[in-house]
Amino acid sequence: MPNSQISLIGVPFDAKSSFLTGPAEGPHAIRQTLFSGVSNLYSEIGVDLDNVDGFKDLIDLKIDNSDDGYIQIEKEVAEELSDNAIPIFLGGDHSITYPLVKAVARSKKPTTIVHFDAHPDLYHEFEDDRFSHACPFARIMEDSLTDRLIQIGIRTANDHQRQQAEKFGVELYQLPEIPANLGLSSDDKVYISLDLDVFDPAFVPGISHHEPGGMSVRDVISIIHKINVPIVGADVVELNPKRDINGMTATVAAKMVKEIAGKMVEN
Ligand code: MN
Ligand code: MN
Repeated sequence: MPNSQISLIGVPFDAKSSFLTGPAEGPHAIRQTLFSGVSNLYSEIGVDLDNVDGFKDLIDLKIDNSDDGYIQIEKEVAEELSDNAIPIFLGGDHSITYPLVKAVARSKKPTTIVHFDAHPDLYHEFEDDRFSHACPFARIMEDSLTDRLIQIGIRTANDHQRQQAEKFGVELYQLPEIPANLGLSSDDKVYISLDLDVFDPAFVPGISHHEPGGMSVRDVISIIHKINVPIVGADVVELNPKRDINGMTATVAAKMVKEIAGKMVEN
């Protein structure tokens, strides 16, 4: 797809989930909802995604859902991603963000990652695995894949993860604190990583880790709409269709894909 503007790339992978499997079925559920006709393809800011090249092309990475497959993710993304396309990755568990950011950084290194999550995902290692879905941001910071990491919606930080945040200079916003301004400038390049468990479980029953007291869909959209610098990539992860009710969570995920894509096009 040489002329694609946006690529929606599914990453059907959940072998690094610590609690439940299911997110490997996430990409299928998000696409099915997005293109079901339940809603149009306009983002709220007025971008008609129906007319955006590449938005409706469907790619799933051809990887095994195993430790071996995990090692393939970065290389597969580099092969699938055309030069001009901005990727939105559909997860998959959150372990995929480390190889995804590595792949994106090969050509467009983000200066800032805006990470929405109930969890900091900064463990040095979790259950003997340094690549668990509880660890991707420790690996990203060790590899200096970004200058700034801004974490929003956090409500589970323990002592170890607070120490990790301090060590890596992470800007960790714990609820109820939400940053009024992300402090971005025009030469910044942003990558957005959205773990659906940032939302209150009332909005997203179809996730593996219900963490009450979360953000509303509107809270998160408002922050995304305020990002007015180039967005080089994004992921929407941790949808677990096995736990979803009436597709509620898939609908939230599809909505977030539209709002992120709209900003990618506008910026
Ligand atoms: Mn996460
Ligand atoms: Mn999480």
